Formats: sequence, structure tokens, C-alpha cells
Amino acid sequence: MQHDIEKVLISQKAIEQRVEELARRITADLLALPHEVSPQVTLIAILTGSIVFVADLVRQLPLRLQIQVISISSYPGTATSSHGAAVQEALTRIPPSLAGRHVLLVDDILDSGNTLRAAQALITQREPASLRTCVLLRKDRPEAQSVAVDYVAFDIPDVFVVGYGLDHDDYYRNLPEIVTLRSHVLQQEPTPSRNGT
Ligand code: 5GP
Ligand code: MG
Repeated sequence: MQHDIEKVLISQKAIEQRVEELARRITADLLALPHEVSPQVTLIAILTGSIVFVADLVRQLPLRLQIQVISISSYPGTATSSHGAAVQEALTRIPPSLAGRHVLLVDDILDSGNTLRAAQALITQREPASLRTCVLLRKDRPEAQSVAVDYVAFDIPDVFVVGYGLDHDDYYRNLPEIVTLRSHVLQQEPTPSRNGT
């Protein structure tokens, strides 16, 4: 796996520090909301890329919160550019109504914006008390800048990255840092029948 890495873009240490910082801001913002006992918070994670980020983030949010997931496919297999976004109902677990809930939507990366726009639309239909969006990475391209997000851990160049939850053909999610891959890896054939998440 290490041989496939071209360059480390964001180190494990830098991620750790930034997640801590972001968690403090999110906590302060949610606690500043008017509420009687504690705010009714629902964190909605977009599968699968956000799982590592969410695992680290939630453990730094000292709030009473529920965790739910939605699955939206975009990058099929080894593709490295977006092909639209489709909600995968079977892997989506959010209640028909989010009334009274303050939702924190979390994704791994904001690229074309198709995924986040689809997720935001789905959640908005369920009428939450509020909706905030948090992404680990945002790419430097106009489409990404045009989507409204409240928290961004890192702005990165418009390159294909893996690690810390992000995959290529479902591999590399377990790398502790965010890296780019050597070109020979990116040209490999995908594993049959998988949807990019
Ligand atoms: P969008 O819909 O904004 O184009 O893409 C968002 C989804 O595509 C992300 O949730 C992620 O799963 C995938 N994606 C976008 N850019 C990258 C990237 O650079 N690396 C990886 N591994 N996945 C990406
Ligand atoms: Mg994803």
C-alpha cells in the first residue's frame, strides 16, 4: 500500500489538530442554540467516505446526539471524476421527519457538489429545525465553492486523494493521512459491480 502513495498532502497530526479545532467550534455553535435541556442533535454521515472522520469527530462532541447515515453513490469503482449522485435507499437510515432536530450533515469531500446537494435536499424535505454541513475536504474548483457548507476542515487543490476514509476502488480508506496516488494505480481496472461512495 505504501508503494502506491505519491505524496502525503495532509499528515495524521495535522488532521488530528484540525478535527479537534472543528469539534470545538461545532460544539460551541450547537450549544449556543436556544434549547430547554440539551439541543436535539442528529449527525448524518454520508457513507462510506466520511466514516473515519465521523468516528474521530463525534468523540470530540460532548453533546447528546444521534447518528444516522445516508448512502449516495457518485464515483463508480476506480473513476476519479463525478458521474452524478443517486441516493441508495437500502443503506439510508433517516426518519421520515426530522422536525425539532438540529442536523449536522458530514461528508468526506466536496468536489462537484452533487453528493452534498442531493443529501441537503433529502434532509431539507424532512424539515429539520436547522441544517449545518461539515466536510473534511473541499477541492479548489468553482463547483465546490458554489455549495453552502458551514465547516470545512481543509481546502485542497483539485487532485484525487485517498486515505482517512477516502477510497480508490474501496482501498486505502485505512491510511491515517490524506495522500495522492501514483498514476499507475489510478489507471487500474475497477473491481466489478461497485458503486462509489
Ligand atoms: P461530489 O458529488 O461533490 O462530486 O463528490 C463527492 C463524493 O465523491 C465524495 O463523497 C467522495 O466519495 C467522492 N470523491 C470526490 N472527490 C474525491 C477524491 O479526490 N478522492 C476520493 N477518494 N473520492 C472523492
Ligand atoms: Mg462519499
